[in-house]
Amino acid sequence: MDFVHEVIARKRDGEELDEARIRAFVDGVVGGAVPSYQASALLMAMVLRGLTDDETLWLARAMVESGKTLDLSVLRRPVLDKHSSGGVGDKVTLVLAPLVAACGAIFGKMSGRGLGHTGGTLDKLESIPGFRVQLPQGDFLRQLERIGVAVVSQSERIVPADRLLYALRDVTGTVESAGLIAASIMAKKVASGTSAIVLDLKVGRGAFAADLDRAREIGRLCRMIGRAYERPTTCLYTSMDAPLGRTVGNRLEVEEAWQVLQGGGPADVREVTLALAEELLPLADLGVDGQEARARAEAALADGRAAEHFERWCYVQGGDWRPGEFHRLAGHEVKAPHAGFVVGIDALAVGRAAQLAGAGRRTVDDAVDAAAGVVLEHGVGDPVAAGEPLAAVFSRDPARRREGRLALEAAFTVGDAAPPVRPVVLEREEDPAT
Ligand code: URA
Repeated sequence: MDFVHEVIARKRDGEELDEARIRAFVDGVVGGAVPSYQASALLMAMVLRGLTDDETLWLARAMVESGKTLDLSVLRRPVLDKHSSGGVGDKVTLVLAPLVAACGAIFGKMSGRGLGHTGGTLDKLESIPGFRVQLPQGDFLRQLERIGVAVVSQSERIVPADRLLYALRDVTGTVESAGLIAASIMAKKVASGTSAIVLDLKVGRGAFAADLDRAREIGRLCRMIGRAYERPTTCLYTSMDAPLGRTVGNRLEVEEAWQVLQGGGPADVREVTLALAEELLPLADLGVDGQEARARAEAALADGRAAEHFERWCYVQGGDWRPGEFHRLAGHEVKAPHAGFVVGIDALAVGRAAQLAGAGRRTVDDAVDAAAGVVLEHGVGDPVAAGEPLAAVFSRDPARRREGRLALEAAFTVGDAAPPVRPVVLEREEDPAT
């Protein structure tokens, strides 16, 4: 029995793997010695048997050490980062990044692309003509120093193990493991050198964690890894039963983020952004508590400083930001089947509709269409008349438009009574050791 075979069999039988075995597996995946069928088998055994806390930490450590790590200490100021566990219509980074900079702190992030039904910040930024997400490390550091905000694509040399393992997990039904998710998220955060992290852990139909208990478990493991690396890590748990805001699709979401930056926009996007700012800013060197942080963030949205920082950020990264100026695609509407109230909008189905329309990828190599996506005319709780438009899907391709509309139709539930109002921010939890 070869070494990998033995590791798979041990995990299959419920034994805890030691650090050496986990490291050899990760190194083997990166070096090419472990073929993808064996890696997939071990990932499935990990999903079914679960990972202990030690295994999760060892996996995160082996992943961090699988590539280069970035040292941001030359900036001599804390660099803040926020990470979302993946959602539908989640454009919060587009607002939060310039908002944090407008409040005087530094926001630096290495981000990813959308995969499956979830969107990615890089694709959203690239829907702005000219926006460059690939910056040399020196430019990234200089930009953080100069304007306090930079969001760039993850370098291939940082945590290469995650890139390989995530691509396998995505196609083998092995994403949904608390230990694998926590190790994947935190390895990237630790390796990219940020000083303090706030995690936006999504809960609900459109998220990897279907319920709060599952999300809490991911959060607990992430904070444990953060503690081991002395990176203060705070978790916010937010609802992803329905999409965030009213748009899903790259350029459509940037337009909506712009509304929020100007003090307007959907209440849920604004609320999640402010709640994250309330957690993040106290972790900088501004000497503010949560209450003062929120007041400063609200002021920066109200007086135009956040929007100004967004414009500066786009300009410096090469983006030609012209609000409202983009190619509008043809759309298909979905209408209310009868009068009543919108009682549910399934985030997963809306994410799939946007993906089918061309806003998302089916495989990592697919191109995305910047202008494709979904616009929701109504939110959960709204009264609607029979035949009133509920939402529309926009695509360049008539066949994709039709497919998208079918998925979108299935996303809406219209009932006779208004549903109870549910908050979008469900819970927050701080690292008690920081
Ligand atoms: N986001 C990540 O970065 N990794 C996961 O495994 C899941 C969500």
